[in-house]
This record gives sequence, structure tokens and C-alpha cells, in this order.
Amino acid sequence: MLFLDGAWKPAESGREFESRDPASGDLLGTVADAGREDAVAAVAAARRAFRTWSKTTPYERSAVLYRAWQLMTERREELATLMTREQGKPLKMARTEVGYAADFLLWFAEEAKRVYGETIPSARADQRFLVLHQPVGVAAMITPWNYPISMLTRKIAPALAAGCTVVVKPAEQTPLCAVETVKLLEEAGVPAGVVNLLTTSDPAPIGDVLLSERAVRKISFTGSTEVGKAIAARAAEQMKRVSLELGGHAPFVVFADADPVHAAKGAAAIKLLNTGQACISPNRLFVHRSIVEPFAATMRQRLEKVVTGHGLTDGVGMGPLIDEQALAKMRRQVDDAVSKGAEVLAGGHRLEGPEYDNGFFWAPTVLRGVTPDMVIYREETFGPIAPIVEFDDEDEVLEMANDTDYGLASYVYTRDLSRALRAAEALDFGIIGINDVNPTSAAVPFGGIKESGLGREGAREGIHEYLDEKIAGIAL
Ligand code: NAP
Repeated sequence: MLFLDGAWKPAESGREFESRDPASGDLLGTVADAGREDAVAAVAAARRAFRTWSKTTPYERSAVLYRAWQLMTERREELATLMTREQGKPLKMARTEVGYAADFLLWFAEEAKRVYGETIPSARADQRFLVLHQPVGVAAMITPWNYPISMLTRKIAPALAAGCTVVVKPAEQTPLCAVETVKLLEEAGVPAGVVNLLTTSDPAPIGDVLLSERAVRKISFTGSTEVGKAIAARAAEQMKRVSLELGGHAPFVVFADADPVHAAKGAAAIKLLNTGQACISPNRLFVHRSIVEPFAATMRQRLEKVVTGHGLTDGVGMGPLIDEQALAKMRRQVDDAVSKGAEVLAGGHRLEGPEYDNGFFWAPTVLRGVTPDMVIYREETFGPIAPIVEFDDEDEVLEMANDTDYGLASYVYTRDLSRALRAAEALDFGIIGINDVNPTSAAVPFGGIKESGLGREGAREGIHEYLDEKIAGIAL
């Protein structure tokens, strides 16, 4: 069902599409398949609701978000189980994601009340300036499947806190997670028309409506750089505001003074996070030549030890990839690297056997001897392949790390404080983990530079993505 103007409805066309478990192929449910006319109705509902929602006090909006946070916290297990079934990540990681998703509801329940204006002194004695912040209007949101609940709350919570109304188009692969999230918002007391949900198997016509309707003043997109660029180009036609959280190709730099075993344990954990399907996943592991042996041995041991399987099975540390195309990409990147001289230290193949054959399972893979001419050196992998590149000195590795069009996350392992700071300043990435593989939180601004995107989510900054800034000059 679609959620339009406060009611659950079938698509105007009556069409539906299926959601399936990527580990087993099992049918999980069917959802309404929205088309153009549903998108137009969603924007109209959001536009009407904006008149009243934007006039509520921040305290009222905060109370709704707080209630949503309570509900999400209470339903953590239920939502995590659904997420594991629909998206594939192991249950423990799904629980973590639901916790992260709930953090945004709580954070922006608090931030709603802290949208402070400013007074600015004037050069004229008879003049005063006021800075005002006001909601931009209807915000459209397009989200990916890899973090199917937190990518929704990371956008919806600040938009609602700011006083915007929203139209959400979640990924085709994870519509059930979106439906449950929106049900929870409805129960929390979000008024009719404030949140509208369009599940669809055909994103282009929906995107077209969201981009062409003048009432939509803001587009917040998380997904691939390719689609993000197309959306930004279209948004420019009406100068809609855009936030873009796009792809990544994170370097993971291990300097000679780091503990190679500790660094490899961190690299293995973050590499296998969400089966490598994370925008902050390390995509090139730069390891100083003097410590590459213990690093590679530990990576190999850690990745070989991981139990791969259905995310609801006890002890499973890694789930499936999302689909057949993802498997084909792993094969293509590994074949290309091997043909150009890389050595496979672990994995390198699809997993086979009764428990794997109906799903999209790739063995955790370590490649050594990766060089700049290989596809994996530049193309986002989005899967469990750890490519090791050797280096000799600091300036060289920082240059290699920056040699990518992406600029989302990066990681540095060193015990030398000066070197850590030099690297943090030199790396052209929006997020830098220093001896840390979890440099994210609802409290800090998340986002990339270069072709990884525009704008920031979470933190103080997140709500300003949904606010226009105005000044009033007042003559006394
Ligand atoms: P994607 O193919 O770009 O899809 C993202 C969303 O855009 C989906 O909802 C998709 O719908 C929709 N979409 C595709 N074509 C569209 C069009 N013409 N008009 C309107 N919407 C359209 O990306 P993905 O494969 O789902 O996600 C993986 C990518 O997301 C990776 O590159 C990853 O790095 C990035 N990502 C970035 C962040 C971040 O915070 N920076 C976080 C998570 C993921 P369908 O599902 O129906 O195709």
C-alpha cells in the first residue's frame, strides 16, 4: 500500500510488485507499485499539509519525533528481523542499524527546538538585521536499499523537525522496511499529508514528477553518483535545493608505525560491514611495504573465519549481496585484477551449496598486489573484496589515496599523532577515521566532497538542509 494524505491506498493503476529475501529468494510480500499519478497526488497532499505543519511549534514537532523514537526503540527486534529478511544483513547488524535509525529521530526531536536565529549589528545606527530560518517547503526523498531504515530517518527526521512535509521514494529492493517505518511515524502522530510514501518498481517516472513539480523545493537523494548527478542536473532546472549522499571509494591507509594486526582486524570488520555494501566501505587498503605480511595474513585469517549465510542464523557474520548484478560485479572486478597480476589470498568466488544456491553469496575475498590499472582501484566495489596496495612513503600514499573522484570516507592507522593530523588535513574526504573504523554518529555531520555529494546529514547541520535562511533589515 502507498501512504498518501494519511491513508493507505493501492496504486492508482492497481499494480503491485514483490519483495524477496536475497539470501533465499523467498517471497516476503507485495507492495503497491506507484506510478506518475500517485506521485502527483503525494506532492499535492504534502503541499496542503505544509500549510499547517510548518506553523506548528518546534515543541509540537519534537514531541512527534520523540514518540517515533520511543516506538522505534520498542520495535527494534521486529524491525531488525524484517530488515535481515529483506536486505540480508545479519540480525546483530540490523539491530545496530535500527538503533542508528532511531538515533536520528531522537537527535532531531532535540534539534527542532534549537533552530536559533541571529541579530547582526548594522553599520547604520538606525538599522537592525535579523536572521530567520524557515522550512523550505515540500521535500522529496529518494533512498537506497543498503541501509533501508536509517537512510529514511536520517532524512525524514530533520525535515519534519524543520517544519517541512515529505514525499519518500524508497529503494525497490526494500519497500517493506519503508512501509513499517512510515506506519511507525503514523502511529507517532504525524498528521495526514506530512509524510507520503511511494513504493515503486519503476523509479524514473516518479523521479520525473518529483523533479518537475514546482511545489517540491528540496530533493534529498542517497544512492549512486551516477543517478545523483542526473537528479542534480534536473533539479537545477527549477533551482530546487539538493542534498546528495553518493558513492564512495574509501582509502584505508596503514602506516609503518601502526600495529598491522590491530589495523587488519579493523579493516576486516569495516570491509565486511553489510557484506561490503556500504558507502563508507574501504575500497583500497594501502599498507606500508614493511608490514604487509602480518597485515595480509591477519586479513586472510579474519575473512576466512567469517561464517556466511542467512542473516537470521546464529553465528552468521556476513549475509548475501543484494542481487545477481552485484555478484556479476564481484566476478568482473576479481577477474580483471587477477588478469593484471593480483593474487587471491582468500575467496575470489561465488559460494555454492544448498544453503547458498538460492541467494547471492560471494566469499569474503582478499586480493594482494593491486595496482592503479585495475578496475577495482577506481570503481566502487560494494561487496566483500579487500584489495591490498603496497606503498613506501607518506607523501606518495596520501597522493594515491586522493587519486579518486570520490571523497566520502577514509581511514588512517598510525601511532604518530603528527602524522595522523597531517593525513587528516591532506585527505580529500568528508569523513576520516583515525585508528577508528566507526567514525559516524547521529551527532556528527555525515557527507562527502568531490563526487561523493553535497550537503550533510545528522548533527546541527542536518536540519539546515531543510531550512531557508532569510534576513530582515529593519529601519528604526
Ligand atoms: P541507486 O541505483 O542510485 O538507487 C538509489 C535510489 O535512487 C533508489 O531508490 C532507486 O530506485 C532510485 N533511482 C534510480 N534511478 C532513478 C531515477 N532515474 N529517478 C529517481 N530515482 C531513481 O543506488 P543503490 O544501488 O540503491 O545504492 C547504492 C549506492 O548508494 C552506492 O553508490 C552507495 O555508495 C550509495 N550510498 C551512499 C550513502 C551516503 O550516505 N553517501 C549511503 C548509502 C548508499 P530503485 O531502487 O527503484 O532503482
